[in-house]
Amino acid sequence: MAAEKQAAGAPPTVVIVGAGFGGLKAARLLAAEPVRVVLLDKYNYHLFQPLLYQAAAAYLEPEQVAKPVRAILRRQGNLRFRVAEVRGVDFERRHVVTAAESFPYDYLILAIGGQTNFYGLSGVERHGFSLKTLQDAIRIRNHILSCCEQAMLEKDFARRLGLLTFAVGGGGSAGVEMAGALGELVGQVLVKDYPELERGSLRVLLLEGQAEILPGFPADLCRTARQTLERKGVEVRLSTQIQDFSGQEIRLKGGEKLPAATLIWTGGVSAAPLAKALKLPLGRQDRIVVEPTLQVPGRPEVYVIGDAAYFEATGQPLPMVAPAAVQMAECAVHNVLAQVAGQAPEPFRYRSPGLLATIGRNAAVAQIAGLKFRGFLAWTVWLVVHLMRLVGFRNRLMVLINWAYDYLFFDRAVRLITKE
Ligand SMILES: Cc1cc2nc3c(=O)[nH]c(=O)nc-3n(C[C@H](O)[C@H](O)[C@H](O)COP(=O)(O)OP(=O)(O)OC[C@H]3O[C@@H](n4cnc5c(N)ncnc54)[C@H](O)[C@@H]3O)c2cc1C
Repeated sequence: MAAEKQAAGAPPTVVIVGAGFGGLKAARLLAAEPVRVVLLDKYNYHLFQPLLYQAAAAYLEPEQVAKPVRAILRRQGNLRFRVAEVRGVDFERRHVVTAAESFPYDYLILAIGGQTNFYGLSGVERHGFSLKTLQDAIRIRNHILSCCEQAMLEKDFARRLGLLTFAVGGGGSAGVEMAGALGELVGQVLVKDYPELERGSLRVLLLEGQAEILPGFPADLCRTARQTLERKGVEVRLSTQIQDFSGQEIRLKGGEKLPAATLIWTGGVSAAPLAKALKLPLGRQDRIVVEPTLQVPGRPEVYVIGDAAYFEATGQPLPMVAPAAVQMAECAVHNVLAQVAGQAPEPFRYRSPGLLATIGRNAAVAQIAGLKFRGFLAWTVWLVVHLMRLVGFRNRLMVLINWAYDYLFFDRAVRLITKE
C-alpha cells in the first residue's frame, strides 16, 4: 500500500503512538524525511520520568519535568500532533483507533511505554502510590505534606508515628532515588518546618525483597548506595517482602506489621495497558515481542520500541530505560526509511550507556565504560546527564536554579499542598 501511494506521489504516513523518550526521538528523526508523521499521545506533554521523584519530593515544580509536545515540535512541518488515547489498532485496515478519530498509517511505531506493576498486591495498588505520571508525583507531594499537617493535630502517639512514616517499596534505582530524596526532605526541611514533632518521629523506610538494593549494579556500588542511604537517615530493610497495605499499615511476609500512612511502590514495571489490548504475542512484563529488526512478527509495517517492546539481548530482555527507547527509535526510523526506499530493515543492536543512580546531595553511584564512580564525582555526572537530557532550555534553567537554591540553602521552594 505504501509503495502504491509513493508511486502516486503521496508520501507515506508514519503514525507514532506515544510522545515519551522513544516516540519523541522517532518523530524528530523523521523531520527532514519524505514522510507524513502523525504523533499521538494521551497527554499534551512529554514527561521526563527520571526526575519525577524530585517533583514528588518537593524539589521541583511538576511543570519543570514536562514540556508541551506542540512547543517541542512546532517547527516540524511534516508532523501533526493529536492528544488522543489509542484504544486499539486495526492491523488489517492499517488504522489506529482512538475514541475521537481513526488514523490511517503506512507504517506504525508503537512507543507506548510502561505502567506500574503491583504484582497482584491489590491493597498496595488501592492505597499505595505509584510513581509513573505527573499526577502521581503531585499526589505524593500533597500526601506527604498533608500527613505532616495531620500529625500536628493528631493526639494519639501511635497514629502520629504512622502518619510520619514514609515507606518506599522496591529498591531499584527509582526506589533508591525516591528514598534518598525523602530522607533529605525529612532530615533537612521537614524537621525545621515541624519543630514541635518528637525527635526521630519522622521516618523513611526503603523495603526491598531481595538481599541487596540496586539489582544489576556491581555489589560494591550497591553496598555504597545502601550505606549512603542509611547515613541520610533512610532505614533500609533487605529481604523484606510486602504482602499488603491498608493505608495505615504495611503487612510484611512473616506477619510483621509496620504502621505507615504512605507507601510509594516502585517495585515493578510492565508495558502500558494498550500492549495487552492489541492481542499481539507478549513476553515478560506484557511487553510486545518484536523481531531483531523491532518489527512485529508477521506485521512488517509495525514497529514497537522502548519499554513496551520485548527484545532480548544476550539472553536478557532489554532494561526499561530511556537510552534503550531512544536507540530503538533510531533503529525503527532507519528501518522505516529503508522500507520506504525498498531496502531491507536491519537488526537492532543495543549499546549500554552504563549504570547510574543518585542518592541525593553529593551522592551517586555509576558504572560507565567499565569504570566505577561514587560520591561527588558520580553525582556531578548524574547532574550533567539529567540536565542535558531534559527537554527545553527553560526547564533546564529552572531546574538548575532550583537545584542550586536547594544545594546552598538546604531548603525546598516547592512545599505547597495544592488541589489535584
Ligand atoms: C520514576 C522513574 C524514574 C526513572 N528513572 C530513569 C533513569 O534515571 N534513567 C533512565 O534511563 N530511565 C529511567 N526511567 C525509565 C524511563 O523513563 C523509561 O524507560 C522511558 O520513559 C521509556 O520510554 P518509552 O518511549 O518507551 O515510554 P515513555 O517515555 O513512558 O512514553 C510513553 C508515552 O506513551 C503514551 N501512551 C501510553 N499509552 C498510550 C495510549 N494508549 N494512547 C496514547 N498515548 C499513550 C504515554 O502518555 C507516554 O507519553 C525511569 C522511570 C520512572 C517511572
